[in-house]
Amino acid sequence: MERHYDIPLSVPCLEENARRYVLECFETNYVSSVGPFVEQFERAFAAWLGARHAVACASGTAALHLAMRVLGVERGDEVFVPTFSFAASINAAVYQGATPILIDSEPRTWNMDPEVVVAEIESRARAGRAQPKAVEVVHILGCPAELAPILEVCARYGIPVLEDAAEALGAGYSSGPLAGRNVGTIGRVGCFSFNGNKVMTTGNGGMLVTEDQALAERARHLSRQAKLPGSDYDHDEVGYNYRLSNLAAALGLAQLESLPKFLDAKRRIAARYDSAFRSHADVVLPPHPAWASPSFWLYSILVGDAANGRAALVRDALGRRRIEARPLWRPAHKTRAFRGLSCIGGAVADRLFREGLSLPSSVSLTEVEQTRVIEAVLEATRGGQP
Ligand SMILES: *Cc1c(COP(=O)(O)O)cnc(C)c1O
Repeated sequence: MERHYDIPLSVPCLEENARRYVLECFETNYVSSVGPFVEQFERAFAAWLGARHAVACASGTAALHLAMRVLGVERGDEVFVPTFSFAASINAAVYQGATPILIDSEPRTWNMDPEVVVAEIESRARAGRAQPKAVEVVHILGCPAELAPILEVCARYGIPVLEDAAEALGAGYSSGPLAGRNVGTIGRVGCFSFNGNKVMTTGNGGMLVTEDQALAERARHLSRQAKLPGSDYDHDEVGYNYRLSNLAAALGLAQLESLPKFLDAKRRIAARYDSAFRSHADVVLPPHPAWASPSFWLYSILVGDAANGRAALVRDALGRRRIEARPLWRPAHKTRAFRGLSCIGGAVADRLFREGLSLPSSVSLTEVEQTRVIEAVLEATRGGQP
């Protein structure tokens, strides 16, 4: 396969342990739904994260869909979701027939604005209107959302909080009411992705975590076609084929062993970019609130002067040097699939999309490569100045 970029955005880092565990699958012939790695991976993941139960899934999207299902989200329900996220966050609610209510981001973390969530829920309460069936918080690009006010208002009205932590494995809270907690372990359900460009990968895969045993068991049951124990093919509801394979779980267990190292690398890369761009007037650094410990999954900046499409110019300049950069998510309210949905606010998300740029952030990025990226960004942004 042709390599399009010398320095790609984010590629997997597979180490010797991955080879060993995957070979074990070959040797035992357990490559599919039977084999020891799925349960080992689930236990190790839950322990590492500080969650009680973990259910391995075929993808992060599958985990999110199962989460919606076990939270009871159904046709006719509404679910609050950020307009600034990857489409999978929103699709999960739609799979259940629910109507997503899109909510703008705030500039401090780029995540769903908690003030808007609180105001909307309180105003619905005052007007006697129905509340959302769930509030889905996404920890975008590895930066923890300001969760405490959302948890508080949701607790007041009995609304479950779902955390889409697909991009934020290893991110957490360093001070404040949630100090010491990892994202994904705080809401009723948390979901992770092990897609190829995420901080760790199983090829394709995801995980659902929760403190609630009954909920975890139901999710696991649904992920296995809701087939009842025994050999007579009885099913008690409509399930899915959402299980992770033993082969993928073998990869997952190996990647989990490497995860602390991967996270160190992401944070080291972010610190180097930060110090290179900090004094640059036209570059806004990614959010790093004092109370948070972001994972910097994809290091992303805002380059100002949106009217001139500077972000696209910088991306093209990097592309000419065979360096891959990527725009941030198009807000859902600006996509063809979701522009008919109602959206509360949207200006912050619009700006993130216009000005945002993710820079190469692979765990394996070398200092020499990173220096090339930094020089290219500095040159391209200066080039755009009058
Ligand atoms: C990657 C991602 C997902 C989906 O995960 P897959 O494993 O690719 O299905 C969901 N939500 C967000 C925010 C993501 O970035």
